[in-house]
Amino acid sequence: MPDLCVIGAGSAGLSVAAGAVQMGASVVLIERGRMGGDCLNAGCVPSKALIAAAQRMADARAAGAFGITATASADFAAVHKHVHDVIAAIAPHDSVERFEGLGVTVISSTARFVSPVEVEAGGQRIRARRFVIATGSQPFIPPIPGLGDAPYLTNETIFELAERPRHLIVIGGGPIGCELAQAFVRLGAQVSVVEALTLLGKDEPAHADVVRQRLAADGVALHESAKVAAVAGAAGNLVVTLEPSGGARHEIAGSHLLVAVGRRPVIADLGLDAAGVSVENGAIKVDTRLRTSNERVFAIGDCIGGPQFTHVAGYHAGIVVRQALFRMPANVDYKALPRVTYTDPELASVGMSETEARRIYAGKIRILESTFAENDRARAERAAEGAIKVIVGPRGRILGASIVGRHAGELIHPWVLAIANGLKIAAMATMIAPYPTLGEISKRAAGSFYTPALYGKATRMLVRFLRMFG
Ligand code: NAD
Repeated sequence: MPDLCVIGAGSAGLSVAAGAVQMGASVVLIERGRMGGDCLNAGCVPSKALIAAAQRMADARAAGAFGITATASADFAAVHKHVHDVIAAIAPHDSVERFEGLGVTVISSTARFVSPVEVEAGGQRIRARRFVIATGSQPFIPPIPGLGDAPYLTNETIFELAERPRHLIVIGGGPIGCELAQAFVRLGAQVSVVEALTLLGKDEPAHADVVRQRLAADGVALHESAKVAAVAGAAGNLVVTLEPSGGARHEIAGSHLLVAVGRRPVIADLGLDAAGVSVENGAIKVDTRLRTSNERVFAIGDCIGGPQFTHVAGYHAGIVVRQALFRMPANVDYKALPRVTYTDPELASVGMSETEARRIYAGKIRILESTFAENDRARAERAAEGAIKVIVGPRGRILGASIVGRHAGELIHPWVLAIANGLKIAAMATMIAPYPTLGEISKRAAGSFYTPALYGKATRMLVRFLRMFG
């Protein structure tokens, strides 16, 4: 009997399988589609490769300010090849061959529970000591009149485009919508974004606004607080009817439509009833130890309906391996969970937002801020757009941080470590930061915690007083 049977070979399932087998467990891994799941094939990897190509275009356009003359044009078919070359280069790491080489038994088929202790896949029944459901999520398609009959793209199909869309209309201004909108406009497409509420609404509003301004400057037509009332037309010739809140209905015409309004867990046809695994709000219900209602079955990654990130899937995998292999209890804790949106400038955050912190600590928090414009390296690189905001709680405890600016996704790392380890702001303020680096922005914000006291009247009086002793 195998120790573990893992259903789904995306980021979550692969991390569990690789970790468990290398620790000596016997593992069966079942995948009906492509190994690597959404992250490798239709998510993080292709989107970051496309964004990297788009950044080259933006860099060339901005080169004049550095005294460099550069002309750039995008060969969309070549960009498409670059994206797929990157996927192909990473794919061996997630492949059947690699996993079989590690000792995992891989079954390329659909898995379905037939009882609380058995799964059927590829004509065989697998009875394992523990099961892990890691079936991921898929794009949510909203019930917009006419959308079902219109040709639309999602993140699962957009990277197949080998020709530049003339005018891409994006429904949804979340991370997927904003990242792809910017990449396509920089690669020469006309792009419109329709967002029902506000762009990047889960982020610090002032920081989301920096991204909003840049998207607009790049040429993206932004329609916020606008509902899509209807979609009509055929491939290459689509009409989207907008209903702005408080405004008049109007239409925009485009050649392609991207739907990016969130993702839903993939849990259909898994035989969850037969397994005795409960579902809540369309997601597999788990406790803080990622256990389902069946004590032999864990569920991890996007299928449990929590934060949908590859780094969360990897984190869940570690929690399950500890419990399934070593019988050690382990609970999820999202207090130091980072989030990054890879627009230019990037938008990154960790821990509490100012609103959450005020709700809990009321007037006992302090907000520290610093801008990229005050950072010498950012000035030298002409990347002076952006800022950091840090939320500090009672006794100087770091509660949260948000950064918008060049490399914000890298700059957030020390704040993740700080929050995970309950550090106080003094730790960041007294760190020796190399000059000139963008990372100094963190030290500068942290240092401002002490400015009122350090340069205040009391300090000056003390210095004058001590002078009297020689
Ligand atoms: P999302 O839920 O983060 O954002 C969807 C946006 O669509 C929201 O702003 C919402 O108000 C809007 N919306 C919903 N219905 C609409 C409608 N009918 N018309 C217009 N707008 C509508 O979803 P997403 O951007 O699709 O991303 C899916 C998941 O993947 C999220 O959990 C996201 O965090 C994650 N993801 C993260 C990254 C990243 O961190 N870089 C990248 C991609 C995806």
